Amino acid sequence: MENNVNTIWEILDKNFPENISFIDEPDPWRFLITVMLSASTTDKQAVKAAAALFEEYPDAASVASASLQDIERLIHPAGLSRTKAPRIKEVSRYIAEHGLPTCMEELEALPGIGEKTASCYVSQVLSLPAVIADTHFVRVALRLGFTDTDDRNKAAREIRERFPEEVWYRMSMVLNLHGRTTCRPKPLCDKCLVSSLCPFSAFLNG
Ligand code: SF4
Repeated sequence: MENNVNTIWEILDKNFPENISFIDEPDPWRFLITVMLSASTTDKQAVKAAAALFEEYPDAASVASASLQDIERLIHPAGLSRTKAPRIKEVSRYIAEHGLPTCMEELEALPGIGEKTASCYVSQVLSLPAVIADTHFVRVALRLGFTDTDDRNKAAREIRERFPEEVWYRMSMVLNLHGRTTCRPKPLCDKCLVSSLCPFSAFLNG
């Protein structure tokens, strides 16, 4: 079983693009806000909402002093704007006053930032090893036998224990992309390059 997991990972790693990025935003504060906006919506909607917000409020200090109603209005395309607006305002206020976060613990102490958002930030902005366990990642990891739980935080912990930290970020991106393109909720196993080794495909085909 362990051999299968390693072989599956080698095949996926070799065949997926070298650089995979879902939110292409070089500014750290803007990146963090865009990831916060992406909760429970698509990256496309999050980027659209972020662009509207940054057009009127281009930095952390300006969002910190904006009205909640205005933030809500601007981020509406990303959904859950009543929940997201106060969190975005508070995180922006913190960054305007204290500077950018420098570790997981600091990020996770901020409102509305869970393990997934914090992992996105530390891996992409701080270049630290992290597993980014979003819906796609967990679905694919579970089907392939990389983890045996669909709980995001537990799955991330299992992957961290099972694989070296050098591959955590790359694995997060590859499994995520595989989940968006092929191993969708309704999987396209006949188009999948690891179908002969996949335990879920074997289960589906009896
Ligand atoms: S064979 Fe099917 S279930 Fe397995 S990883 Fe590929 S698409 Fe997903």
